[in-house]
Amino acid sequence: MEIMKLRPHHVLGYIGHEAQPELYSLPDNKYIKDFRESKRNSAEEAAKQQGLSEEDIRKTGEFAYNFHSDKLILHWRDSIKRIHDNPDTKFKYVKGFDSICKECHQKEGCHDENHWAYKVVQQADLDAIKLMPELKHGKVYTGHDLKKLAKKKGWLKE
Ligand code: SF4
Repeated sequence: MEIMKLRPHHVLGYIGHEAQPELYSLPDNKYIKDFRESKRNSAEEAAKQQGLSEEDIRKTGEFAYNFHSDKLILHWRDSIKRIHDNPDTKFKYVKGFDSICKECHQKEGCHDENHWAYKVVQQADLDAIKLMPELKHGKVYTGHDLKKLAKKKGWLKE
């Protein structure tokens, strides 16, 4: 099987799931709903910070709620669950397009420099890089490496 590729904000998402491992066993419908709700909350918060009107905040949240397909949300969880179930699983830390994006119906927008989504995902990666400067693009890591790093930073319990 081809080695998995993961971009920075997806690696951070994996670590977040390791801090809440119950997420891996939530029923699919519940996981999808919670995932969507969290995207809506973050988008609404960002829209509030920008001073948008109540109506635009609501629309922004709704857009974020529906941005990912159910298929992609479950593909995302299945991919990181592979590392959870076997922390020896290797993945390549990459810039941009990764194994999750490959299955996503939003991939064209997210990887087109002229599309608004490009800036959003680039910013998410930059934020993740700032939190995990120890990881180097192009290198191969395992789940053990990420857990070790997360424990060192106090994100996961020893
Ligand atoms: S293409 Fe964009 S929305 Fe889809 S998984 Fe990749 S970063 Fe996320």
